Amino acid sequence: MKIGIDAGGTLIKVALVTDEGRTFKKYPAAEINQVIDMLNNEYAGEDVYLTGGKAEYIQEKLNFNATLSIEFDATFRGLSQLLKEADIDLDRYVYLNVGTGTSFHQATRESQKRVGGSGVGGGTLIGLSYLLTGIGDFDTIIERAKDGDRDIIDLKVHHIYNGRPSPIPGDLTASNFGHIINAQKNASIEDQLIAVIGLVAETVTAMAINLADAFKTKNMVFIGSTLLDNTVMTDIIYRYSELKNAEAYVVPDGEYSGALGAIS
Ligand code: ATP
Ligand code: MG
Repeated sequence: MKIGIDAGGTLIKVALVTDEGRTFKKYPAAEINQVIDMLNNEYAGEDVYLTGGKAEYIQEKLNFNATLSIEFDATFRGLSQLLKEADIDLDRYVYLNVGTGTSFHQATRESQKRVGGSGVGGGTLIGLSYLLTGIGDFDTIIERAKDGDRDIIDLKVHHIYNGRPSPIPGDLTASNFGHIINAQKNASIEDQLIAVIGLVAETVTAMAINLADAFKTKNMVFIGSTLLDNTVMTDIIYRYSELKNAEAYVVPDGEYSGALGAIS
């Protein structure tokens, strides 16, 4: 068995690969010491591959040897494999790893280059939701946001143009959280949660669109646990990309790219 581990800021992703197939597991980063105990007790002597921000910490505490790899290289290897398995065949593309924070990359079939990052990511989604509503559980945030209405809190282009013709689509957000007078009166918890998700989704998509444009491609690939079962966010990403004539892909199991690619 080969075990690939991507220990990120929020979640530790684990890929267990045997000749028969593979399984994926994730653990909260707060449980890192339990994960280390499990590795030392149950998996000592197996081939263990580590990547991610907390990889070195794990390596120091293991009582056997493990192979370390650079996070960006591991993620690209894993992503290339998952794209192939999903029959997504891209010559040139940008990809965004929307983890706790977000990192941006330009890629061809052969290689990737990290071209930047943003502090707006999944950590923002949870942190801002919690500060506004007291809800900090990821699944609850997503579930309740489904009943929210973005027009209550966000100012859309059509709000500014007041029904008159606008030079850009009226459905585009003019200002996230900008529908101020209305929001102060009418915003429910659900409206606040979907507004937070909208802010994160549109920020990363806007950056992806610019990055893709500069790299002369329309293809934008999104990975990271922030997208996990998060149809509220992926719907916003798809719709915004379509309005801008770009092609967004959300790769199945994309959040395990690093764990999978660490196994080399
Ligand atoms: P980074 O790569 O930035 O160090 P990471 O690898 O831990 O961080 P991911 O696992 O890709 O990041 O994504 C973390 C985000 O996924 C969280 O910020 C949260 O928005 C979302 N998320 C999805 N499921 C969960 C969960 N069960 N618990 C906590 N966060 C979750
Ligand atoms: Mg990560």
